[in-house]
Amino acid sequence: MEQQSIEVLRRLDRYLEELEPKLIAFRRQIHQHPDLSGKEANTARFISQVLTGAAIPHRLAANGCGIISETIRSPDPAAPVIALRADIDALPIQEETGIAFRSNNPRVMHACGHDAHAAMLLTTVLALKQENNLPFSWRAIFQPSEEEGQGAQQLIQEGGLENVDGILALHVDPNRIVGKAGITPGPRTAFCRDFVIEVRGRGGHAARPHATIDPVAAAAHLVTLIYQALPRSSDARDPMVVTIGMIQGGHTSNVIPDIVTLKGTIRALRREVAIEASSTLERLSDATAQAFKADIKVGFKNLLNGMVNDELTANACAEVAREFLRPENVICDDPPSLGGEDFADYTAKVPGCMITLGVGFPNRKVTPLHTATFELNEAGLLVGPKLLVRCLLHWSKKRAAM
Ligand SMILES: [Zn+2]
Ligand SMILES: [Zn+2]
Repeated sequence: MEQQSIEVLRRLDRYLEELEPKLIAFRRQIHQHPDLSGKEANTARFISQVLTGAAIPHRLAANGCGIISETIRSPDPAAPVIALRADIDALPIQEETGIAFRSNNPRVMHACGHDAHAAMLLTTVLALKQENNLPFSWRAIFQPSEEEGQGAQQLIQEGGLENVDGILALHVDPNRIVGKAGITPGPRTAFCRDFVIEVRGRGGHAARPHATIDPVAAAAHLVTLIYQALPRSSDARDPMVVTIGMIQGGHTSNVIPDIVTLKGTIRALRREVAIEASSTLERLSDATAQAFKADIKVGFKNLLNGMVNDELTANACAEVAREFLRPENVICDDPPSLGGEDFADYTAKVPGCMITLGVGFPNRKVTPLHTATFELNEAGLLVGPKLLVRCLLHWSKKRAAM
């Protein structure tokens, strides 16, 4: 690194170290007051207050639940504009940890670490704002509704990516201890398509199924058929999984109901595979409808993009991360996940990279993301902003050299 960036980095590190108590306080504040997807007005207000206090100009999203900062310009007019994104929503889970700052909101919990993402981004921008000599321009995006796969689209439509050349984000990873990071180029998460199946029959007496059209029997058959036939009709070299997560119908033991509703999701690493699986699902539903004389309708939600880490961006981030965290602590060949992540909507438009950050405890196993007892190791939180500013400096230098 050349002298000038070494000095910039030294100053940023100092600001960040001074900010660590605030970082922890932000995280605890947001953790204690979680908001569900699409209802993040209070969280957004809190973030807005912090940004206002630091004189970082910004605007609230149209629904008041997200924030886009203005671009803070580098003195170099040719410098790239990099967006930093944190998601801010929580999950409909009743928290069961014993921590002192556990959720105050019944059945709402930050169980995916978005409290940490928001706090780490806030801390990063507070430090960046104090430095006038950055070789990049930047903007912050605090995004709602990640868990519902909608917030990224919303903020992109509201101009979040205008004039942006690239985007970075962090996601906590409780499976790795503090000081480790995952930065893998290429496909990272799945194309996801949620669906609702309505099986409509004709109810009646449990003793006389022949006089009814039994939607429970049809639905049960359909679930089995989907699990059997879908994997058999998809090339096994292309990862694909389908899961029915909800089945609902009937009220009592001796009445055949009129309707059974199923909800599920299709996940695949390639768009075409997800689309092909959707039409197979429709075919299986039609066949079941015919076999049971039922009426079966399949409704699909929008296809959520699969997330791809840009090669050049990921490699630049990994280079500097190896220097910072030591080579053995930077994992660059994580297998992709069939989970969904709407950061994909940004990386479909501009080169970007999501870095996974170890927040595990050294001698303690914690439960996974999205569980009621999920906890993260706050000792790892400062690593996030420190890593981000290094990635920003190194990446902008690499881009300038292109
Ligand atoms: Zn999540
Ligand atoms: Zn998440």
